[in-house]
Amino acid sequence: MTDTSPLWFDPALCLIGGTWQPAASGGTLPLVNPSDGSEICQIARGGAADIEAAVLEAEAALDGGWGRMTALERGRILTRIGQFVLERVELLAAIEAMDVGKPLSQARADAVALARYCEFYGGAADKVMGETIPYLDGYTVYTLREPHGVTGHIVPWNYPMQIIGRSVGAALAMGNACVLKPAEEACLTALAFAHIAMEAGLPAGALNVVPGLGAEAGAALAAHPGVHHISFTGSVRTGALVQQAAGANVVPVTLELGGKSPQLVFDDADLDAALPFLVNAGIQNAGQTCSASSRILVQRGVYEQVKARMAEAYGALTVGPAAEDLRVGPLISARQKQIVEAYLKQGADLPVAAQGAIVPHAPESGAYVPPTLFADVPEDHALAREEIFGPVQVLIPFETGEDALRIANATEYGLVASVWTRDGARQMRLAKRLRAGQVFLNNYGAGGGVELPFGGVGKSGHGREKGFEALYGFSQLKTVAAHHG
Ligand code: NAD
Repeated sequence: MTDTSPLWFDPALCLIGGTWQPAASGGTLPLVNPSDGSEICQIARGGAADIEAAVLEAEAALDGGWGRMTALERGRILTRIGQFVLERVELLAAIEAMDVGKPLSQARADAVALARYCEFYGGAADKVMGETIPYLDGYTVYTLREPHGVTGHIVPWNYPMQIIGRSVGAALAMGNACVLKPAEEACLTALAFAHIAMEAGLPAGALNVVPGLGAEAGAALAAHPGVHHISFTGSVRTGALVQQAAGANVVPVTLELGGKSPQLVFDDADLDAALPFLVNAGIQNAGQTCSASSRILVQRGVYEQVKARMAEAYGALTVGPAAEDLRVGPLISARQKQIVEAYLKQGADLPVAAQGAIVPHAPESGAYVPPTLFADVPEDHALAREEIFGPVQVLIPFETGEDALRIANATEYGLVASVWTRDGARQMRLAKRLRAGQVFLNNYGAGGGVELPFGGVGKSGHGREKGFEALYGFSQLKTVAAHHG
């Protein structure tokens, strides 16, 4: 670490039961800055022993003060955490930019969103209620919303702050005790958040953080019989493994696994309004967004115009180090760069409408790829069906609304979709028939919307996070039937 590092804490430790400590094995892992490939610091290589200790501490918190705390008090603590996060937005943004390679203003937006999640769930904590149920004569029946107990949170590298906010925030609001396993590629804001939470008065053991490899710490958390609910965001392959491991303990799982989200642009669309959303939803966070819009379906009448205008926007995109705050930063790692470059090769037979430019002084050792817009892409091409997780969008022409719907619903994913049209009846029809967890009409809310329930269908996963809905997911319903005659 250098003297100019924004880190104010020792990043090589786990938080277990309110104590910052090295991994039980003593092992560490290097954390790499994707803007230049340099090592930022070492982080703890947590494993099964650390997960075991964290689960025990979470159980102890549930048996102790945290478990008995009122919803009002939990809400106050979360709200205070949100305030402390807001006071440190610049610091958190600098850390995230260094760790994820996210351009500074995008990292800043994530820090503000983290604060907003804490405020939202802080305010909601004491507003989750059961109901009374009319039943047989002589009975009073009511329901209670109770925490699951110990919740596991396996988080990816692309939006650490937002994903921690939406899953840990909601879980704490409902009174669960959390064990968080951040991604090995980017875990510094998870550690920073835990420091802030402790400072804001979160009791020891209510939040435990064990960094480490997926196959070690992540697998141990997913399979631990003392964990009562798992929230996972990441790849389909790993999500399926996590669900299998949790299934052996009959533990419920929320999976958020990405997508191939389309935007449908009709001839009557307001193109001036659509254009910024069409491009930004594809290149935000260098396309490494589960809800990235990587397919743009355009009706024939405006296809050439949309292609030309998107190409113009791509021509103005610059790519460079996160600290320079250009529109696009590096990818998370050399490995991710290889994955995206392999997709660009698969598109060698397709027309390239436009590419953005990597700034000439970008370090060779950074994970940079040029944002690329492919045109006239057949709907069955790999680039039109598979999640790329890079700044790559495909333009697909269509003739009728039925064609658009068929193409939009033809991938195995179903996370987000949007429709650009002035025809109100068409908006309503498509909102019902599009296979997606969220549908936007004349906008595209990638990543935003703390208040809006979010999650997928098909291979995009199941369960809903964000909004009030998450509070139901992070709790279970108990029915109490009293016979009093
Ligand atoms: P991943 O799914 O392997 O990793 C996500 C999280 O799961 C990390 O914290 C990781 O440590 C953990 N993990 C890995 N193996 C595990 C296991 N066996 N048991 C429990 N936890 C485990 O994703 P990745 O390898 O970082 O990225 C690969 C691809 O996944 C990307 O190219 C992208 O397509 C997709 N992805 C999607 C999202 C999303 O937001 N939906 C996020 C990251 C990556």
